[in-house]
Amino acid sequence: MNVLELTRELVGFNTVSTESNAEMAGRLVCLMESLGFATGIQSVTDALGVVKQNVIGLCAAHDGRTDGGLILSGHMDTVPFRPDQKATLSPVEEHGRLFGRGTCDMKGAIAAQVVAASRFAGRPLARPLRLVFTFDEEVGCLGAKALRDARLVNADCAIVGEPTGLTPIRMHKVYWVLRVTIVGRACHSSDPRRGVSAVKAAVRALAALERLEPELGRTGPRGTARGGPGGPVPGNGPPGFNAPRPSSGGAGEPAGIVSRAASGGCVDRDARSGFDPDGTTLNVGTLKAGVAHNVVPDRCVFTIDFRHPPGQAPVAIRERIEATVCAAVQESGVGVEVEQVLSELPFETAATAPIVRFMEEATGFTAGGVSYSTEAKEFASLGIATVIVGPGSIEKAHQEDEYVPVDELGRAVELYARAIERFSLLADPE
Ligand SMILES: [Zn+2]
Repeated sequence: MNVLELTRELVGFNTVSTESNAEMAGRLVCLMESLGFATGIQSVTDALGVVKQNVIGLCAAHDGRTDGGLILSGHMDTVPFRPDQKATLSPVEEHGRLFGRGTCDMKGAIAAQVVAASRFAGRPLARPLRLVFTFDEEVGCLGAKALRDARLVNADCAIVGEPTGLTPIRMHKVYWVLRVTIVGRACHSSDPRRGVSAVKAAVRALAALERLEPELGRTGPRGTARGGPGGPVPGNGPPGFNAPRPSSGGAGEPAGIVSRAASGGCVDRDARSGFDPDGTTLNVGTLKAGVAHNVVPDRCVFTIDFRHPPGQAPVAIRERIEATVCAAVQESGVGVEVEQVLSELPFETAATAPIVRFMEEATGFTAGGVSYSTEAKEFASLGIATVIVGPGSIEKAHQEDEYVPVDELGRAVELYARAIERFSLLADPE
C-alpha cells in the first residue's frame, strides 16, 4: 500500500462538508476489512437530509480484548474549493508537494494511518488498534461529537492527524462565542435626538473591548506571565524525526504552533509555552445593524469569540467582557443582552502521558498547544489521552493552494507505525 497513491485516491472523493461522505467511508471500510479489521459505520442524516458517516475499524487484541489500546483518527470532510484553484479533487505533484483539496487537512494523514496499520495486518496485537474516521469536522466536529455521544470508541490513547508539520500538540485553547445585542430606539434620521442609536453605543463597546484585549492577552495560563518558547526534546527517534524544523518558510513548516529551538535543549514538561499567541485573544467576527440610512438604528448585534489557554476559567473572562460592554454603554440609554452561543470543551493532555512522552521522543519536539479547536477534545472527553500530530502545515489548510509535502507523508507513516508498535503491538507500552 502506497501512501502517496492512497492520498491521491482519497482526495478524489468530493467530501466537502455539504456533500455526503458515504462513498469515501465505503472505500475506507473496504480497505480496513482487507487488512483484517472489523468495521462499523455510524450513519447520520444531517439537517439538509444528507447522509454522513463515521467509520470505525477495530483490530482486537490477540486474546479478543477490545478495550483500551490506540486510536488513529482523522476527519474525512474538507472545506469547499473552486474548480479554478490549485487545490481541487485532482491532485497535482510539484517539487515534492502534493496539491489538492484535503491533502493536508487531512486525507494525507488518513492515508498514512491506513498504510501504517497495514504493516501490522495479521500480527497478534497485545492491545486493540482502532482506525476512526469522521464526518463534518469542518462545520463543528459533528462526527466526533456523534461518536462521543454514542460512546462508540474507547482506547487508552489517540492520535489525531491534523496538520502540525509532524510536531506533537497536546492542548487547545478553550474557545467560547458570545452574542451581544444592543437595543436602542429607532427614529427618523432627520432628528436623531428623538432616538437612541444602537450603533453609536456599539462603537463605544467595541472600543472598550479593543482596550480589554491586550489586558487579557497579557495574562498567561493560570494567571502567570508567559515565558519564551520551549525547547526541542533531545531526540532518540529515527533519523528525520529528531531535528528541529526550520524557523520560517519551508514546506510543512508548522508556523506559530509549537515550542521550538531554545538553547539548552532541556524539557520543561510543565511549561505551557506552546501557544502563539500565548494569552487570551478576542475577535469581533460579525456585526449587524440598521435597516436604512435614514433610520436611527435601534438594534446592533455582534459576536465575540474568545480563546484562552487551559487553566483559566472561561466564565471569569466572559464576565469581564460583559462588564466591559455594559460599562462602555451605560450612559447611552441602551439595553444590552449577552448570550453564550458556543462553548467548546477544553483539551489538555498531561505532559506526562505516555503518548505525549512517546511523541516527544519520536519527533524531537516538545508537545505544544494550538489556538484552534480539533476533534482531540472529543476523544479527550472520553478519558482518552490524545495528541495531535500529522503531516502538512495548518497554514496550508483551507488555502487555495493546499498541499502536503510528499516526504512528510512517508514520515507520518513511520511515526504512526512506531506508535502502533508501542501502544498496540507490545504488551507493556511503558
Ligand atoms: Zn482538519
